[in-house]
Amino acid sequence: MILRALGTFGFSLTVLMMPVLSNAQGVVVGGSTPENRITILYDAFGKDASMRKDWGFSALVEIAGKRILFDTGDDRDIFAANVKAKNVDLTNLDFVVLSHRHGDHMAGLAHVLSVNPKVKIYAPKEGFGVYGSSLPSSFYRKVEALPPEMRYFDGKPPEVMTFGSAWQGANFELIDKTTEIAPGITLIALVSEAAGTRELKELSLAINTPGGVVLVVGCSHPGIDRIVEAAATINPKIQLIAGGFHLVVASDDAISKIVATLKDTFKVENIAPGHCTGEATFAALKQAFGDRYIYAGVGTALDIGSGAGAGQRRGQVSALDADDLVSYRRLAAREDPFGLATWRRRLANK
Ligand SMILES: [Zn+2]
Ligand SMILES: [Zn+2]
Repeated sequence: MILRALGTFGFSLTVLMMPVLSNAQGVVVGGSTPENRITILYDAFGKDASMRKDWGFSALVEIAGKRILFDTGDDRDIFAANVKAKNVDLTNLDFVVLSHRHGDHMAGLAHVLSVNPKVKIYAPKEGFGVYGSSLPSSFYRKVEALPPEMRYFDGKPPEVMTFGSAWQGANFELIDKTTEIAPGITLIALVSEAAGTRELKELSLAINTPGGVVLVVGCSHPGIDRIVEAAATINPKIQLIAGGFHLVVASDDAISKIVATLKDTFKVENIAPGHCTGEATFAALKQAFGDRYIYAGVGTALDIGSGAGAGQRRGQVSALDADDLVSYRRLAAREDPFGLATWRRRLANK
């Protein structure tokens, strides 16, 4: 278990403040401190009456002295309300990670920027994407014989052409390939090959702790199995996965395969699924992982490194109870995040 595993490491203060070097597994960060935790700020189920539920994902990751905001939810006002309910100080972040360009992960960024306009934001690098991009002007064909007024930039283009982001002036750092952005903290960059999200690049956050990799995923469009495979190259011990696994419309067969891959191939220790993981997958993961399944709805604080945390519900509860199912289904149906309702309507009208 994450909690027990981390609790066995007796880190001195010096070790806690500095990255621990380990030859076999690269840089390891963090130790057993009460500040090591993941707080779910946005999701469509949860038990915290002070939080609002909505389709989307956001989590505050506090680990190894770093405060990382991973994704920002689906609605600026709901995000702001949930941040307030949890007393999260957005002016004091080390950085933000936007996993991918879907609205249910980005809409709260406007609120983040309103209180912390210069915060560093890591986002996937995509050509002509919403986070901005650039290209050498040599990319387009030139016809020198044309009169200047018919040519781009009168025939004198800048060497590098930059393309604006949807948040002008925001401090984006675009990530193209998997990158260790700070000692022990890696952004895994993978591209989806699935129909509907082909070519979509997604970042997942992998933190190499003494207890193994803590992996936070947004929607897992490239495939949770591929993301975990990449994380396992940092450290084969996967301590915890939190976030959306994107199996909300997957078949039982596909779900069983993924569950077996996570449990048996990668020997994932703890699982805290949320967002687009899907109800059937919640149930299958609960069955497979037992008390290593950690309930992580909006408002849950997953303590990594000190015993049982407040608001953390393990083993004894069902994956999603009746109240949760009602809100999760209602929000999933309203948002139609995968275009299924539209698709069914079209089929029905044929
Ligand atoms: Zn999503
Ligand atoms: Zn998505």
